[in-house]
Amino acid sequence: MPELLRAAQMLVMTPGAPVVKDAAVAVESGEILAAGQYADVRREHSGPVRDLGDVVLAPATFNSHVHLEMCHLLGKTHGGEGFVPWIKSLLAQPLYDLDAARVRAELLRAEQRGVAFMADISTHNAPAIGPIMAGSGLGFVSFREVIGNDVPADSAELLPRVREVDECGRGVMSVAGHALYSTGMERLRASKQAARAAGGLPWSLHLAENTDEDDMLLRGESDFLDLLKSRGVLSGYDAPGERPAPLAERLGLLDADSLLVHCVTLTPGDIELVAKSGATACLCPRSNEFIAEGTPPLRALLNAGVNLCLGTDGLCSNADLDPYGEVAWVLAHEPDLSLTDALALVTTNPARFFGRGIPYATRLGRLERGFAARFSVVPASVLEILSQR
Ligand SMILES: [Zn+2]
Repeated sequence: MPELLRAAQMLVMTPGAPVVKDAAVAVESGEILAAGQYADVRREHSGPVRDLGDVVLAPATFNSHVHLEMCHLLGKTHGGEGFVPWIKSLLAQPLYDLDAARVRAELLRAEQRGVAFMADISTHNAPAIGPIMAGSGLGFVSFREVIGNDVPADSAELLPRVREVDECGRGVMSVAGHALYSTGMERLRASKQAARAAGGLPWSLHLAENTDEDDMLLRGESDFLDLLKSRGVLSGYDAPGERPAPLAERLGLLDADSLLVHCVTLTPGDIELVAKSGATACLCPRSNEFIAEGTPPLRALLNAGVNLCLGTDGLCSNADLDPYGEVAWVLAHEPDLSLTDALALVTTNPARFFGRGIPYATRLGRLERGFAARFSVVPASVLEILSQR
């Protein structure tokens, strides 16, 4: 027998659909049978009613960029003074000491807050994090992030195979580059090739995160590069002399299966190039704000027609892994955006991107018949920002 969820308001996220007042969703066996006004849904579906009261019901959210292997670093890094002081404080920590129990706890907390999908980046622990994500209730991609210069004989070697992930039906393992300065160009190409050859898996890259990255690529001069060299990394670094986005394009890294994370320093020309490539951009504004890296050009990306998502980044640069924190940031900084506009960044837009390679993601992001019965409730902190406009 179906169950009916009733709420004062509901955003179904079907394009063009208005806010539904006195709303209900009928669900059975984890699937939505109907969503609409309570009186209409009740007429067609019997069953117990769970009244959620005076809330705004919405689809469950996507967190399009996290680093679960750094969950143990919450509160242990230095914010507010830019990238180099932050990375120094990060490098002083036991960076990759995976705390599996903490990761499980964070996944559970995320699910309880209405997250249905997470895209995780892990440099050293993807084969361990994949099974943890498979054992959670979330949809997911577990990216193995490659750094350094080694070029494999066969690019498929870069893609981890994890039995639990193959069997769970809600996620995939994939491969990601770290950044254009930290992953060699041929290794980046090999990682992109591995994702492509595996049937068009999502692929990810930190791109244009801050001016240090721009300076390194353009001139081979930056405080960050000096720091790396002092640690014996990138000692023979040769600057390609290009901005991040044109370089990524020239290397063949930009297409509709590419997720470009941060995008803070993109110029109008870069944004045009990203839009033309069909790549999706994932902004992490609270992380950028914590580190003091600047503000991503959200409005310009939207105006250019770039598919735009939001991610929290890791707990080494954010207070929590709740995408609604990013939604709140967006609504506070972009007064012209409606709640529906902002919710698209954590529902329909990421569903469009991740759904290309992960069938489960196509069943998320909207409250419509046939979609997965995964919900979130818009938190009071978000509604308060709207009420103060
Ligand atoms: Zn990141």
